[in-house]
Amino acid sequence: MVKILLRKLAGLLLIFGLLSNAPLHASIMNQTNAVPGGVIVIKLNKALSRQAPKAEFMGRKIMVTRGSASDPHWYAVIGVPLKVKPGRYRLRVTSKAMNGAYHKNTYRFKVRYKKYRAQYITLKNKRKVNPYKRDLTRIFAEYKVIKKAYSKWTPKNKVPLKFSPPVRGRFSGSYGSRRFFNNKPRRPHSGMDIAARKGTSIKAPAKGRVIAIGHYFFNGKTIFLDHGQGLITLYSHVNKIKVKPGQYIKRGQVIGTVGRTGRATGPHLHWTVRLNGTSVDPALFMNKRYNRKTSRRKKRHKR
Ligand code: ZN
Repeated sequence: MVKILLRKLAGLLLIFGLLSNAPLHASIMNQTNAVPGGVIVIKLNKALSRQAPKAEFMGRKIMVTRGSASDPHWYAVIGVPLKVKPGRYRLRVTSKAMNGAYHKNTYRFKVRYKKYRAQYITLKNKRKVNPYKRDLTRIFAEYKVIKKAYSKWTPKNKVPLKFSPPVRGRFSGSYGSRRFFNNKPRRPHSGMDIAARKGTSIKAPAKGRVIAIGHYFFNGKTIFLDHGQGLITLYSHVNKIKVKPGQYIKRGQVIGTVGRTGRATGPHLHWTVRLNGTSVDPALFMNKRYNRKTSRRKKRHKR
């Protein structure tokens, strides 16, 4: 009896603890992290008008979205590029008042240091490490197509920022890891890898619209989803694509299946999340429970 009471009391304390430390951004994102590759949410002072303020960071247009229906504030959601050095930065915000006058505000924030781990990958297909000349022509042409898809900006007052996992599976690689393919340094990992059996359904983590689909040298069969205001998600190494460009997608809708097309050592989903033109850690968009569960699965697998 006493034990049960104690447990209840501990539970209550836990709830109060969480409430008192509740970060301001809790209503719009699951997690944030002020590091290179992370996402920072800044609550803007009460908006002077119903029109969304404009925000800018390092010359980039930054997402400004509404919170919950009962929350009158605007929030700036900043994707911090991986190459950004730790230090102090500024977000510049311009808002339009009722009388038509423009107000400028500066918000200061800090980016902390984060060390990403190194990952060594051996590929039997050497062509995927050192592509042939004709491959390079293809890669360059694809790069332009991919860049165009990434630069899409769709205005929207409220952008979905809480994602459900696109595939239930094991993390096989982490975002930001410094990668070496056959001991040759390559670009850091731009997304999250989720290992799953070939043919496993890939479900849209949030509502959006298909911007493009393609079959690329490195990424294999790929789907691009646009969620609004520069939030773009990409699904690579797909086996079967089940959507068409321009199609509107609901959260949870099957968009394709897991495969190993392109540069992949086994069937898995490579999932990239882009914000203000940079890739950020997809784990931040999911709830902590999912992240814990998948990393436990990973440990078990390693044994
Ligand atoms: Zn990957």
